[in-house]
Amino acid sequence: MEKKTYERPVIHKLNANLVNKFGQATAIEPLREIDGVPIRELVERYGSPLFVFSERQIRQKYEEVMQAFSTRYPRVKFGWSYKTNYLNAICNIFHQQGAWAEVVSGFEYRKAMQNGVPGNKIIFNGPDKSDEDLQLAIKHNSLIHIDHLDELYQLLDLLAGQDTKARVAIRVNMDTGVYPMWDRFGFNYENGQAWDAINKIMAADNLQLTGLHCHIGTFMLAPSAYAVAAGKLAALYMRIKNKFGHSLQYLDLGGGLPSPNNLKGAYLPGVDLVPGVEEFAEAITGTLLNSDIPPDELPLLIMENGRLLIDEAGYLVGTVLANKRLTDGRRATILDFGLNNLFTSIWYNHKISPVEEVSNFKEDMELFGPLCMNIDVVRESVVLPPLPRGSLVVAHNVGAYNVTQWMQFITLRPNVILIDTTGKSHIIRQAETLETINSQEEVPAHLQEIKL
Ligand SMILES: *Cc1c(COP(=O)(O)O)cnc(C)c1O
Repeated sequence: MEKKTYERPVIHKLNANLVNKFGQATAIEPLREIDGVPIRELVERYGSPLFVFSERQIRQKYEEVMQAFSTRYPRVKFGWSYKTNYLNAICNIFHQQGAWAEVVSGFEYRKAMQNGVPGNKIIFNGPDKSDEDLQLAIKHNSLIHIDHLDELYQLLDLLAGQDTKARVAIRVNMDTGVYPMWDRFGFNYENGQAWDAINKIMAADNLQLTGLHCHIGTFMLAPSAYAVAAGKLAALYMRIKNKFGHSLQYLDLGGGLPSPNNLKGAYLPGVDLVPGVEEFAEAITGTLLNSDIPPDELPLLIMENGRLLIDEAGYLVGTVLANKRLTDGRRATILDFGLNNLFTSIWYNHKISPVEEVSNFKEDMELFGPLCMNIDVVRESVVLPPLPRGSLVVAHNVGAYNVTQWMQFITLRPNVILIDTTGKSHIIRQAETLETINSQEEVPAHLQEIKL
């Protein structure tokens, strides 16, 4: 018998335009307005692409998350994570709500100061603090969170001969049952590094140990990991109290609570996958309340939530530039925003809505950005109605990390606007122009003239 020639198997994804595997119909609703303001009008006024933030949604979310914690624990403060979104208008909404500033560089530290945050309400995290940064933080009585022993020695050097005491905490990393473990920041709990650093600080005349910090990861889906973290910080709190008779002022559990975004590779969409904030709040506060810490000296609980508080309040509006067919027959739609503006499309499948009425017909398509780069993909596979050239689309849940991690690459960064609680829109960051970019550049004299 003749052997048949081998044929490479192929897998075809079927999109029958019926219900999906979760039994949900894939209905596509257009999103015409944000907070009552027609998106088409915003684009006519401010251009496309366009980042839009809703002040109402930011404040609502803040209050909802604060309520989840403050109804369970007597003393709670939030520190707004600057790197998540440090546009001054956004930061000031959080500061008006009562949030302190959580910064991870000298640049962010100075940004917070310029926003008017008092030094003693700035939490200074991160592995990169220059002598000047630390001097500033010492002078303004900020909460300095030490990341490594070199920073501890750097601080001792700076403080030698001064009669000030710097307020410090250490960042503790630990096994919370979620892997890979984030052990590159701070001092490890299990191997004794954290206890060792605490003892060194307690022995130093110029340092005052005021708290403990951890930030166990980001987009954490397990509330139990926070219970473990809170338990380990509480254990350190008691060990310090028992050995030195010293009570810490605060425990800072960091951020990392997830927003309802769709993680790539996750089986379920974010809205079904992500636990409610109450579950995280319960895990943390329950552990602290049940710990050995005496009830009359419960320390301040600081949370440094970033993405949880801002992701849903941010939208990216864009325009369809073109449609074409890929060689496998699938539709390719090219948008005027891509990886340069929507950096988080690397790890999220952002929900995309059309802005205007669309046909009932839908098909599996790939959404590309405008960059001349093969990696510029907004969605590898998404079921949407055909979007004709010139139609508008909105990417959802883009408030966290995009307007800080965006790249000025091939095109310019667009306008960012805020819709205030009365429905009025304001530019909070101007679109870049050729002049913005050129103003940073210098051309040496011998390169100023070209002749072709
Ligand atoms: C980035 C960061 C945060 C905020 O993280 P989210 O995942 O956005 O909540 C909080 N604390 C520290 C130390 C950080 O580096």
